[in-house]
Amino acid sequence: MKQLKTNDSLPLVIFNQKKEKKGVSSRKQTDAIAKALLKWFYQNGRKMPWRVIGGAHDNPYAVWISEIMLQQTTVKTVESYFLRWMKRFPNIQSLASADLQEVLLYWQGLGYYTRARKIYECALVLMRDYEGKLPSDRSLLLKLPGIGPYSASSICAFAFNQPETVVDGNVIRVIARLYGLTHAVTKEEIYEYAQKLTPQEQGADYASAIMDLGALVCTPQHPSCSICPWQKICVANIKNLTDKIPFLHKPEKKIKKGYVYIIENEQGAYYIEKRTTKGLLNGLYEFPWQDNEAQYPLFPSNDWHILPQTVSHTFTHFHLTLKIVQLKIKTLDCPLKTGSFIALKDFKKYPFSTLMKKVMKCLK
Ligand code: SF4
Repeated sequence: MKQLKTNDSLPLVIFNQKKEKKGVSSRKQTDAIAKALLKWFYQNGRKMPWRVIGGAHDNPYAVWISEIMLQQTTVKTVESYFLRWMKRFPNIQSLASADLQEVLLYWQGLGYYTRARKIYECALVLMRDYEGKLPSDRSLLLKLPGIGPYSASSICAFAFNQPETVVDGNVIRVIARLYGLTHAVTKEEIYEYAQKLTPQEQGADYASAIMDLGALVCTPQHPSCSICPWQKICVANIKNLTDKIPFLHKPEKKIKKGYVYIIENEQGAYYIEKRTTKGLLNGLYEFPWQDNEAQYPLFPSNDWHILPQTVSHTFTHFHLTLKIVQLKIKTLDCPLKTGSFIALKDFKKYPFSTLMKKVMKCLK
């Protein structure tokens, strides 16, 4: 590390990346860097319903649920879902004794429903093998359904106050800028740099602090470097590179087009079916749909009526646009047999995906 002259109590260093990787950094210096961030955090950190400040969480279950909800979903959206969930399923026991369909209803709208199914599966395993408690050992957490390396680290840090390095999108941006990494960085590389800064104590607060710094100060556009506790050691700030870091390479998403079929019977009920194919949207209810235009129509009839509205939704790997098609048919004449005709007033009993909710909105 190259030392800079300063009167500030924070050690001013420009990180020499090669040396840093070989572990030349001094613990004293990194502790001072962490301390400066923690000082900022205690004055400016965000309040969240699942967050406690100052040590381990008294309810690791709350941390686990919030961490899974926060994957792919914003803090703002998660807050109301989390509170509703904790009211209905306040602990692992209550979750494990519910049925999956109800669990999915409480997840409805958050998307990526595999997460809810895995939480439920995991609750059953915790009841069977861990007396209804989350283990605090990372290697045990990693063996549980739906808990990958990121969630395991988050639970260790936020629930058990361990010195775990947690790397999310905010942390990637902060670390890439702090170290002045101008190339396309990998998560592993960021982890290596971030780990060196993680203090041995205050694991929970430090993990929250670096995330909050990314969310509130080191924002993607126009970071507020003038109020940042790391402004004097940050390579991107010193070299005026904040608009070039992090260097992101986003692969183009595929575009898919298809049809969604609204089939109404003589009693005014609509045909819906439960999705049973593994993966995307499994276990949710839906109107029949296809993501391939060439497959139109779903079955032969002269009465299909294509509406002018379309519905679009973006999944992780593709954008989907569906044309809405309607058909009125007698229940007995409907060739689809795996689902049922359900009155609109009863739809609230069934978990639907966000895509299907968009279709319903269009119909209204
Ligand atoms: S100084 Fe600026 S670019 Fe560097 S970490 Fe702070 S906010 Fe981010």
